[in-house]
Amino acid sequence: MKTLRLILGDQLHHGHSWYTKTSDDVLYFMAEMRQETDYVKHHIQKVVAFFKSMRSFADWLTINEHTVIYYTLDDAKNQQDLIQNLQQLISEHHIEKFEYQLPDEYRLDEQLKAFCEKITIETKAVDSEHFLTSRTDFADFFKGKKQIVMEYFYRDMRKKYDIMMLNAKNPEGGKWNFDQSNRKKWKGSPEIPQEKQLENSVVAIYEMIQKAEVVTIGNIDVENFHWPTNRADCLKLLNYFCEELLVHFGDYQDAMHTDEYFLFHSRLSFAMNSKMLHPKEVIETVISYWRAHKETIDISQVEGFVRQILGWREYMRGMYWKEMPNYRTLNALNNTNSLPDFFWTGNTKMNCMKHAISQSLNKAYAHHIQRLMVTGNFALLTQTHPDEVDKWYLGIYIDAIEWVEITNTRGMSQFADGGLVATKPYVSSGSYINKMSNYCKGCAYKVSKKETEDACPFNALYWNFLDEKQAYFKDNQRMSMMMSLLNKMDKTKLDALKNRAQAIIANPDKY
Ligand code: FAD
Ligand code: SF4
Repeated sequence: MKTLRLILGDQLHHGHSWYTKTSDDVLYFMAEMRQETDYVKHHIQKVVAFFKSMRSFADWLTINEHTVIYYTLDDAKNQQDLIQNLQQLISEHHIEKFEYQLPDEYRLDEQLKAFCEKITIETKAVDSEHFLTSRTDFADFFKGKKQIVMEYFYRDMRKKYDIMMLNAKNPEGGKWNFDQSNRKKWKGSPEIPQEKQLENSVVAIYEMIQKAEVVTIGNIDVENFHWPTNRADCLKLLNYFCEELLVHFGDYQDAMHTDEYFLFHSRLSFAMNSKMLHPKEVIETVISYWRAHKETIDISQVEGFVRQILGWREYMRGMYWKEMPNYRTLNALNNTNSLPDFFWTGNTKMNCMKHAISQSLNKAYAHHIQRLMVTGNFALLTQTHPDEVDKWYLGIYIDAIEWVEITNTRGMSQFADGGLVATKPYVSSGSYINKMSNYCKGCAYKVSKKETEDACPFNALYWNFLDEKQAYFKDNQRMSMMMSLLNKMDKTKLDALKNRAQAIIANPDKY
């Protein structure tokens, strides 16, 4: 039966069972489309990375004797819309059956479901064979439980996949979680070895995107593109992580520094989110490297890494499928402000914000703590509408795909889901940023000051936030200590802090 199989841009999974056999009756279809470049304003590096990776994947399929129809963005046949392209191909090639892998994004899932209901030929949706849980495992695991705690889910995953376990019940190292070790500030050492060179000219794709007038954000070095866009380069990056970075990953996970963008982070999120690397393969490679180098690498570095992928990544995906489509409308704290213009330029006197944003514009990357405790913290403290915050995060990062972006942004970072992902809001004054980075040293503001004109804006914003949201958090035990400090604060002092915070919120681009 003549079959058309669709491969979406984030379904570049070489190990999928579809590819174990070749058949003259199967046509694979991949397309670069305006539907995908235009649903949000993406970073130029993100568009380039997806297109280049898709092309490498199509080449790999062809080398392995599969038949592929690939539409570049400027292909004359490309209708720029998924459904129109599919309809055209089905009729042109007399297709009798349509198959697709379950998408990870709700919007594509709905689009393809509706399409299959409409067409008259046979259709089939198959698993993408990428995640370690199904779409519904998460909801089943937490059914009937009062709270959706990541830690329990993570422990269950460790047991289920027998990852770093002594026996069926007990974790290796005697503890499930070594989070307490991940608190070091990086002060120029230990040294961070240079990354391995990847295959990296993207001139032709960049020029095609420019010619098509796709509106993008951010900057790109087209001769020195540093993201992996084929499986071999993804594996190179994974090996570089094991050999050079794993040894300090956990220790410096929360650290930030003006001279180092990546520190000891793996930068593997794009390779995994596009599915060029499988999460199990990443976890197993890292663990086996550690087992061979136990005399130099402590378990805490490895457990911290495994938890991010086996725990947080799968947890966020489960939450997405449990809560969508409602999740994208949540705004529990009723925040309504706009993002300042400097989110698009990095043009602010706040050194931490300047660095985190400029880096995001230049590299399409910021690590977790920069996203959570610098930009996300500021957006929440200034009570920004979660729609605005989501749009920014969904566009700017190389790894931003809605299932993992929205749960991190709207959930973990903005508390817009009312505490489904996080048990308390991730907000802090300047002192946390000062503790974990060297940003405050070069800042126009003084982190130790609170109400004066030269005081760190995060300080006034923090107390103002607690005061304004006090009623909402009155029953939240994890907020009780801060609320009690707030309530003991001298009224004149609090008024001064609130006045400063209101001035910042009214005109953030001045700061
Ligand atoms: P590492 O620090 O090396 O961690 C290893 C891997 O663990 C990552 O590659 C990633 O796959 C996984 N991981 C770590 N933390 C998380 C998490 N919280 N949720 C899911 N997976 C995690 N991650 C995305 O992949 N896409 C996004 O769009 C995204 N948006 C975010 C938005 C906000 C506001 C915040 C606070 C976090 C977001 N994250 C997102 C999570 C995290 O910041 C990135 O996964 C990480 O920074 C990617 O860099 P890395 O590969 O060097 O990660
Ligand atoms: Fe950021 Fe405040 Fe430190 Fe400046 S003083 S870098 S604004 S935390």
